[in-house]
Amino acid sequence: MFINTHTHKQLYDAKIELVNLDLGNREKPNYYSYGLHPWFIEKDTHLACLQELRIAVHEKRCLAVGECGLDKLSKVDFELQQEVFVAQIKIANEVKKPLIIHCVKAFNELVNCLNLNDNKVPVIVHGFNNNENIARILVNEGMHFSFGKALLGYDSNAAKAIKNVGRKNFFLETDDAEISIKYIYRKASEILGIDEEIIKEQMKANFQEVFNFKL
Ligand SMILES: [Zn+2]
Repeated sequence: MFINTHTHKQLYDAKIELVNLDLGNREKPNYYSYGLHPWFIEKDTHLACLQELRIAVHEKRCLAVGECGLDKLSKVDFELQQEVFVAQIKIANEVKKPLIIHCVKAFNELVNCLNLNDNKVPVIVHGFNNNENIARILVNEGMHFSFGKALLGYDSNAAKAIKNVGRKNFFLETDDAEISIKYIYRKASEILGIDEEIIKEQMKANFQEVFNFKL
């Protein structure tokens, strides 16, 4: 059984594909997440979008809030990004669903926002490809990671991090890459030196635990 924790379109090659869906999209995949991405926040519409999100996240097949988070390279005003992120932390805690995080060059602020708002839901930092120090801080904060195409480079930060974060703390994803999740599983298995079947079992256990979902 393959599980793809974060993709932008249904690829039909995993039992669970958590599709990052735009609000208002009528074509609903089996499982999805909703969130306001820090690239696409607009000053004039963000309050209405948050209100829409607040309602949509109750849908049973919406398993998480996100991707959402903070991005210092985004053109969107950073204050506004934080305001919208905090609102999404609150929404996730109201419905008790995990947060799928997009974070670029703002990990201190990410941790602060979560802690200052008393976050209690699981946090999954998706597309993780950052250095050991950041990985360690996030592990200490009890966060989870989702690794994707960066695993394809043997020397990448992701390939180093996956060995250090602990098997219970990570997921695998394709994000926007046009590759099969099966390929990412194979790479993870090679990097970790663990049989692919064991990775599958672990990903299943992690998914059940973090998403509170029976498989
Ligand atoms: Zn994504």
